[in-house]
Amino acid sequence: MSNQSGAYSGTSGGRARGRIVGVPKKCWCGELVVEKISKSDPNPYRRYYRCGFAATERLVNDNHAFKWIDEALVNEVETLRSRLDRLEEDVREITADKIMLENMVIEKIQTKMEREVFERVEETLAATKSDVKKMMLVVIVGCMVIVGCSKLVG
Ligand SMILES: [Zn+2]
Repeated sequence: MSNQSGAYSGTSGGRARGRIVGVPKKCWCGELVVEKISKSDPNPYRRYYRCGFAATERLVNDNHAFKWIDEALVNEVETLRSRLDRLEEDVREITADKIMLENMVIEKIQTKMEREVFERVEETLAATKSDVKKMMLVVIVGCMVIVGCSKLVG
């Protein structure tokens, strides 16, 4: 995109007639580009873009902006088409990236869920174990009490 705007601004390559790409907006001299209709024999009624200054001064064989409108439009269409191709490529890349990212996210969620379930199970197991220990302690204490009582009684 930058190489085309360079041709419009004309500071580097805009001076040469053939270097204008697409529809020129401004001549390198700073003058706005105007639309004219050719009256020349080889190109009768062919419309063209011309530097406003050069048009008013009726300059010939100068290097101010000049471009046939049909050629400019063909350029413009070509530029748009290549830009569209690039956009489509970008979209494809972005979609591929998105799918990759989604897969990563899904994978992460899965591992997280697996870990959570695992932790939950561990917790439950630990809780059960301590419950069993408590119960066993109660049973043991109860037994000791019973044994002690029977000894007292006996
Ligand atoms: Zn000019």
